[in-house]
Amino acid sequence: MTAPKLKPCPFCGGNNLKIWDNSVECVNPDCGASGPDLGHCVGAKCRIEAIAAWNTRADTATWNAAIREAAELLGKAAKNQTPARAETVKACGRAILALLKEEKE
Ligand SMILES: [Zn+2]
Repeated sequence: MTAPKLKPCPFCGGNNLKIWDNSVECVNPDCGASGPDLGHCVGAKCRIEAIAAWNTRADTATWNAAIREAAELLGKAAKNQTPARAETVKACGRAILALLKEEKE
């Protein structure tokens, strides 16, 4: 079984990553993010699980960043609009931010 490819660090975007048996660590000295910690686990199978967990986290961070950006753009779009349009755009922003909240639960 080939180890899956690591996605870039969700915090700094770096690709200088160290794979441990139970987690992945970003080696960028300005970042140092690591995780998710799988607890006591040793061996190749654990490293593959650590990579999968890291990649899931990277996907979540990318998703959350995109959601925040979309909500920000909607906030800007609501300015200088008629009250009805502004309310529609703000409602869209609230719906998008609710997705972020769901993601955390
Ligand atoms: Zn990093």
